[in-house]
Amino acid sequence: MGKYLDIPFPRVKNPFDGHIHIHRWKDENSGETYIHGLEEYRRACGLKYIALASLPSGNPIPAPRDVSNNIMCAFYKLANENTYAYGGFIYPSYPANEQKMENMSLETQLDELNEIGFDGIKMLEGKPNLYAKVGKPLDSDFFKGAFDKMEREGTYILMHAVDPESFWKNASREQIEKGWSYADESKFPTSDSLYNQIDNVLKSHPDLNLCLAHFFFCSEKPQKLESMLEKYKNFTVDITPGGEMYIAFNENREYFKGFFERYQDRIIFGTDMDYTPHLEAGIWLCDRVYRFLATDEALMSFDDHQITGLKIEENALQKIFSDNLLNKLGTKPKPINKEALRKYIAKYRHLIEDKELDKYIDTLIEKYL
Ligand SMILES: [Zn+2]
Repeated sequence: MGKYLDIPFPRVKNPFDGHIHIHRWKDENSGETYIHGLEEYRRACGLKYIALASLPSGNPIPAPRDVSNNIMCAFYKLANENTYAYGGFIYPSYPANEQKMENMSLETQLDELNEIGFDGIKMLEGKPNLYAKVGKPLDSDFFKGAFDKMEREGTYILMHAVDPESFWKNASREQIEKGWSYADESKFPTSDSLYNQIDNVLKSHPDLNLCLAHFFFCSEKPQKLESMLEKYKNFTVDITPGGEMYIAFNENREYFKGFFERYQDRIIFGTDMDYTPHLEAGIWLCDRVYRFLATDEALMSFDDHQITGLKIEENALQKIFSDNLLNKLGTKPKPINKEALRKYIAKYRHLIEDKELDKYIDTLIEKYL
């Protein structure tokens, strides 16, 4: 066998990467656009379906984050019909302020994204750096109306909340540069506070269709996750790396093999791949996560740790790598309503910072709308 599996995901039908981002609209070296790049990524990895998680808010690293991210995701759905996308909330200014959001309240934005044909909502608002910027606790009145509505309408939410514990205690230089060092308690919430806020959100919205990314950073405290999975039956997690997760899974192998089989309906595969694609890295991620769950091979893993696959049962494999997310989102992505997308672009495009991208959106309008 070569470095990677000859056929990616050999024992999975319709593999589905449920967690992908677009950080740039074109490749500075090749001049190719993200539409081309995403096609290349899914072909290289043998993925039938992908879900794009829009990031229109947050730290402008590595590229500006604004409403253009929602718009680009919507256009890619028109370019490839096997594409799902989660839209994100935009804020006209920080900290968020209800008064300044009158014609773009979170509920209004939910209606707009839904009408365009988004399949769910991405929330990065629980990641400590964006949390600090927005300045509103997740269980505060600011978000309550949106959670009420999403619970009522069954909206699928992919949320990033908390982060690895090390980001609070001993962040690496790379993490510090990205603004992911949270030691300053006057600026950032503690991880305990974020865990409590999520618990409060679920307590008051027990049917919320919430997926917490990166295993909710519970690989070292899985009992906490188990008790939530038992309490809230609509709640799921994805297993998007965080390499630290896989190292912790490996240290507690028997337990996690059981965990993945016990909760096989509640776990969703994703890579966190982003455009500009590093195809080699994307293939590596797909290959690594698949082999860790599907085989009992010894693998070189994240941060050069040696790990050994868990070889979970076949049914569980099919569910985690495809069926669970298809069950959540439906087996056909929602179609794009071109009129609604046009209206949305007209209303919000003044918020786009990158003038070259703004011009490129005209090209997309011409081609797809
Ligand atoms: Zn992500």
